[in-house]
Amino acid sequence: DTQGPTHFIGNRIRKELEAGQYQQIITRFPPEPNGYLHLGHAKSIALNFSVAEEFGGYTNLRFDDTNPAKEEQRYIDAIKEDVHWLGYAWKHERHASDYFEQLYEWALHLIDHGLAYVDSQDADTIRAQRGTLTEPGVESPFRNRPREESRDLFQRMRAGEFADGAHVLRAKIDMASGNINLRDPVIYRIRHLTHPRTGNQWCIYPSYDYAHGQSDAIEHITHSLCTLEFEDHRPLYDWLLAHLPVPSRPVQIEFSRLNLDYTVLSKRRLTRLVDEGHVSGWDDPRMPTLAGVRRRGFTPEAIRAFCAEIGVTKSDSIIPFGVLENALRNDLNERAPRTMAVLRPLKLVLTNFPEGETEWLEAAVHPQKPDMGTRRIAMSREIFIEADDFMEEAPKKFFRLKPGGEVRLRNAFIIRCDEVIKDADGQVVELRCTLDPDTRSGQPGANRKVKGTIHWVSAVHSVQAEVRLYDRLFQTPDPAGDKAVDFIEHLNLESLVVIPDARLEPETAQARPGESFQFERLGYFAADPDGTPERPVFNRAVTLRDTWAK
Ligand code: ATP
Ligand code: MG
Ligand code: MG
Repeated sequence: DTQGPTHFIGNRIRKELEAGQYQQIITRFPPEPNGYLHLGHAKSIALNFSVAEEFGGYTNLRFDDTNPAKEEQRYIDAIKEDVHWLGYAWKHERHASDYFEQLYEWALHLIDHGLAYVDSQDADTIRAQRGTLTEPGVESPFRNRPREESRDLFQRMRAGEFADGAHVLRAKIDMASGNINLRDPVIYRIRHLTHPRTGNQWCIYPSYDYAHGQSDAIEHITHSLCTLEFEDHRPLYDWLLAHLPVPSRPVQIEFSRLNLDYTVLSKRRLTRLVDEGHVSGWDDPRMPTLAGVRRRGFTPEAIRAFCAEIGVTKSDSIIPFGVLENALRNDLNERAPRTMAVLRPLKLVLTNFPEGETEWLEAAVHPQKPDMGTRRIAMSREIFIEADDFMEEAPKKFFRLKPGGEVRLRNAFIIRCDEVIKDADGQVVELRCTLDPDTRSGQPGANRKVKGTIHWVSAVHSVQAEVRLYDRLFQTPDPAGDKAVDFIEHLNLESLVVIPDARLEPETAQARPGESFQFERLGYFAADPDGTPERPVFNRAVTLRDTWAK
């Protein structure tokens, strides 16, 4: 038996359970299938599933598919894949559209009890009459229309007799309420649209507020967890449940949404990035979508650890993206096999290494985890090192390779730079070095110390690869914060750097899409589905240390 989560929602539910108020805790994750899930949704998923799981209940996945104008089957499929990938299993897959008939019956119930009426004014007029925070609303001339007339009109709305916008159904609550959501909210609209699931069966669709609580009640959801912007909707949620013959009485609890700096977490904005071609798609590795961060190399474990770390509160804040990156580093540091890769190769010839020969060296897959085994690394006369690990005019503190200097080749031996070869433009194109055979592991000089260690790959054995380096997608911490400036203006136009001719150890080149490695000294990299064994493509998921300028 577990004590359950310790945030305010967990604490509340624990008390309720102790008081015998519930037999079982049932939650739901209710995405609208009008886009891909993003990291904000991951917070909601982790919350809903962990609350139910830790108290021994279950969670439904409910598609909130009440607006066919923007909803598509491909989004439903992608959402299911993403929730699965995060590591959660829902009990029932449900769709708000499963309840359209019941919701319609309940709308008739409201009409019959004088609690809803058909309004025949246009949308602009209705909006204007709702008033403001300081001004009460104005009653519609149709507010006191006889129930029988509303019932007849509503049935004919369903039958398809009217054009879009000709009538709406409104709950009859209180046009003078201090809460504008209670000023006779519209609960049904006419929309002659084809729905991805119900096809052309319906031409009236319920509002989010009308469908949500009743769907919760049908599924016997005990706690309907949603973000703070729905706090003002809670009185309407409760009013509807109180006035309808629903089978259960769920309660809505609000928590603060996740905001991350240097990105946007809103499907509407992410849709624009995709539609306007600022990114390559919903799964572009720079996108904060689950599909995007997955492709980039983020792990579900890291995202879940991040969600646990940030907790659940009622106060809004912006979390630094670096917090999520740190969670990824912590996870991959434990699990990612180590390999050497050279991003910007500089040729280096070991003049005392026999031509045409290969020496097989052995290295740990993970230096701190002997159980992960060892790997073989090919050494030959020509190798590549990282161009910026060599400096011709090096400052005193530069401990990598310089003319006349010594450095250790990681997993191999110490070398000395004897000669620098340049092309006609004075560019360094090759280094000629000698190796110190006594410094091979197992040799008497193996422990001789030099200040620097650099990574390398054998020229003939290594495989050429494309490596994609990513930076923040936006230049400003809160790109959508200033309503006067379109957030697109804040895009970082250098968020992707493509390295066409990096070099990998040959085993790394065989990686399946999604497999991650630590490229020693460089960071964590994941194989991209664009790659092939002949021409692998790797994404840098995260650097080894937080290098973002603060
Ligand atoms: P968006 O504005 O991105 O479209 P949404 O809330 O309209 O978000 P839904 O598909 O309706 O998207 O959201 C499903 C669930 O995820 C809702 O319960 C919603 O409150 C929650 N959610 C959405 N964004 C966040 C976020 N940034 N942080 C936490 N929960 C979120
Ligand atoms: Mg929504
Ligand atoms: Mg939305």
